[in-house]
Amino acid sequence: MTRPWCRVICWSMSWMMFASSAWAADNVIVVTLDGFRWQELFSGADETLINKEFGGVTNVPTLKQKYWRDTPEARREALMPFFWSEIAKRGQVFGDPERKAASQITNGKKFSYPGYNELFVGFPDPRITSNTPNPNENINVFEFLQRQSQFSGRVAAYATWDVMLAILNQKRSGIFMAAGWAPIVDEPLTAGQKQINELQSRLPVYWKDNVYDVVTMHGAREHLLKHRPRVLYIGLGETDEWAHGRRYDLYLDAAHNADKYLSELWQQVQSLPEYTNKTALLITTDHGRGLTGKDWISHGADIVGAEFIWIGVLGADVPALGIRSDIATTQAQIAATVAHLVGQDFRSISPKAASPLKLEK
Ligand SMILES: [Zn+2]
Repeated sequence: MTRPWCRVICWSMSWMMFASSAWAADNVIVVTLDGFRWQELFSGADETLINKEFGGVTNVPTLKQKYWRDTPEARREALMPFFWSEIAKRGQVFGDPERKAASQITNGKKFSYPGYNELFVGFPDPRITSNTPNPNENINVFEFLQRQSQFSGRVAAYATWDVMLAILNQKRSGIFMAAGWAPIVDEPLTAGQKQINELQSRLPVYWKDNVYDVVTMHGAREHLLKHRPRVLYIGLGETDEWAHGRRYDLYLDAAHNADKYLSELWQQVQSLPEYTNKTALLITTDHGRGLTGKDWISHGADIVGAEFIWIGVLGADVPALGIRSDIATTQAQIAATVAHLVGQDFRSISPKAASPLKLEK
């Protein structure tokens, strides 16, 4: 038996459910923190690495003051306050092994080119066996969006690592890109872009293929204000670089600064009418790292634990389910998820890509 009042309520509820699943964001921002471990994301600073021997930390009291707290929850909030107060509360977080929700890479290589390929192409490619900047033969999700009229010319990628030009096959894909130490080419340059190029040319080249995060962050923000892209990718690299250099203090600072940048970017996005409540944010990493004091600096096929990653999603049509439990996910799911966030089906042109993350219970 169906009562009239129930008919009305049930009808509105089913319409709302339909509306919420059919609705998608207008814009998507994707951010990666190269080689940033799930251990620090979920538990904050690791005490066994806050020392000279394993972490290369010379000023232990200062680092502890910044990031050491009594509980894992307090530590992760001290390290990444925006991620834990905003993304984890209003969005979703995947990859917490303690909640039976491990997130894994499937390429087996556990280093960057295979990782970014899997992330943005949606499947592992066994032909990719090094970081040599060979143009990627696979179509990535940014290219897929760029090929569609509503996104065409409104897809941009800013990355600290110059190999990203090959990974996203900039020549073929036609995505606007700035990567590595090359200056921004986007004439006529704004005053802000000129300043970034000028600053970059005067910085010490500490890693020849990787510029500092702050340069890439500012470039991306300036691009957002100038062009209002619908799809923006920001690839940050300092977490990986400082880890390889066994500098746990600078590794934590890089994560903390990335979080601060995200917070500022999200505030900015919410103040622009094209983006307010119409934008999704996805943040993740290309690989994990070793588990021990000796090998946390490394990653690669033979490094145990470097196959585990994490994923955060926030905004627009993403239900606020918080830290997800009992759900196994893979890196390969991210490509289709990025498209799904803006209402597109990446697998329509790339059937080998894994299915999007399940953002609804
Ligand atoms: Zn690395």
